[in-house]
Amino acid sequence: MLGQMMQQPLLISSLLQHAERHHGRQEIVSRRTEGDIHRYTFADMASRSRRLAKALRELGVEAGERVGTLAWNGYRHLELYFAASGSGAVLHTLNPRLHPDQLAWIVEHAQDQVLCFDLTFLPQIEALAGRLASVRHLVVMTDRAHMPASGLSLVCYEDLVGAQDDHYSWPAFDENLASSLCYTSGTTGNPKGVLYSHRSTVLHAYGGALPDSMNLSASDCVLPVVPMFHVNAWGLPYSACMVGAKIVFPGPALDGKSLYDLFEAEQVTMSAGVPTVWQGLLDHVIAGGLRFSAMKRTVIGGSACPLAMLRAFEEDYGIHVIHGWGMTETSPFGSAAVLTGAQRCLPPEQRYAIQAKQGRCVFGIDLKVVDDSGAELPRDGASAGHLLVRGPWVLAQYYRQDGDSPLVDGWFPTGDIATIDADGFMQITDRTKDVIKSGGEWISSIELENIAMGHPEVSMAACIGVAHAKWDERPLLVVVRKPDSAMNREQLLDYFCGKIAKWWTPDDVVFVDEIPLGATGKMLKGPLRERYQRHFLHAHQGNTH
Ligand code: AMP
Repeated sequence: MLGQMMQQPLLISSLLQHAERHHGRQEIVSRRTEGDIHRYTFADMASRSRRLAKALRELGVEAGERVGTLAWNGYRHLELYFAASGSGAVLHTLNPRLHPDQLAWIVEHAQDQVLCFDLTFLPQIEALAGRLASVRHLVVMTDRAHMPASGLSLVCYEDLVGAQDDHYSWPAFDENLASSLCYTSGTTGNPKGVLYSHRSTVLHAYGGALPDSMNLSASDCVLPVVPMFHVNAWGLPYSACMVGAKIVFPGPALDGKSLYDLFEAEQVTMSAGVPTVWQGLLDHVIAGGLRFSAMKRTVIGGSACPLAMLRAFEEDYGIHVIHGWGMTETSPFGSAAVLTGAQRCLPPEQRYAIQAKQGRCVFGIDLKVVDDSGAELPRDGASAGHLLVRGPWVLAQYYRQDGDSPLVDGWFPTGDIATIDADGFMQITDRTKDVIKSGGEWISSIELENIAMGHPEVSMAACIGVAHAKWDERPLLVVVRKPDSAMNREQLLDYFCGKIAKWWTPDDVVFVDEIPLGATGKMLKGPLRERYQRHFLHAHQGNTH
């Protein structure tokens, strides 16, 4: 017997329609690449998205074709999110921090028909121009007054929108059709495309807004620092429309001062980003003795949130940290370390230790850890193994790699090593490729980095496994000191005493001016491993097991 309820496909356009009908007066504020602040409402955004949808159709974009974007977080980018996907085309967000060769490769692989970009990226587009064979139109996301001089044939975004009226009905179609495309950062080999559907995106927006996820509501003012060019800004543009939260877009200015000023001016209550961005913000507020007047919580993820950062936000600024985990292949939201009622009553040290884990999965996501043979490991918080994930917003197949399933028995292997405890809290100990294997045993690079980051004179720390004649590999700590710090190797290594098993202590420390970051703000350990590969080769002593 079938249920007798309405059949309404879960479409991205329905999020926009909801926001317009029920939260039409809610604000969207953007710091623009033109340098000023732009302000309008959800109703304005919905109207302009309809105009843009018509304009895209006039440019010849057909259902299923890809519309590329190379843009910061801003209202025009948001309009493209809805106009492209809502009209049945596929939004393809490109990461401007990628190498030009990778960008050219991705545009070609995705067969983008139109490429829309912020003014900032004109030099990159000009450098790539001869290699964008599929692209029929280059659209500059600005108005006529700011159109740049260029040898290329460029279309002005505001001319496109201005030429249309907003009489447009969003088409209805199968919720399983593709809505957006994002390529993994691809530190090795070619990037891989993850093709989201309308259904997966809407379900993910629900999951991400839940109280034990990002806990979003209409009373929030959300500032996504996490870029809209990387995994749809963790779904925040969609979740914010779903709940009617005010949105503040920071544009290109992601330094501590610019972010802090915007947080205060717009009374931001909630934000989300990677640890490296939050470090910049913390440095700024600490140096200036500043306070936050409205911030309540921040989601930190993308790489492990150091315990010291968590504690600084919670204790010094009263800002609640939600440590989240996810990946491009999981849309990205997978889990969040939100405490249970009983855990809230624990002493601070114990609470922080739980919050520093990557957390419990939200409904829709299922997690397990397995050993090398694929057998599931106990949920005891100690047995570390390969982390597998499944759910309706988890990738089943990479774009244009049909017939080559990445799944193992219906689960997606994340490439992360993790434990899961009896309360369901997952903790990542490493990426498979970052694990340090010393004398046949694993050492968690994340844990060592976490401890190093707790030292008041450490600004950033990466721990890598380096070849060692006796132990196969030993940990080497690569550290950026805080300005003015003269801390030496011994002082830093002393700091590890009593915090871990002695044989986990790094064998050496090298101090550097900076640690390379990848296109999504994560530390790049590959170049460090290459640079220091011979560091221990003649050292036979090292720590004993
Ligand atoms: P990406 O697809 O580029 O977003 O990278 C996903 C990977 O980032 C995951 O597989 C993890 O290795 C890492 N990652 C994401 N969030 C966290 C976190 N909170 N702690 C540790 N690693 C994380």
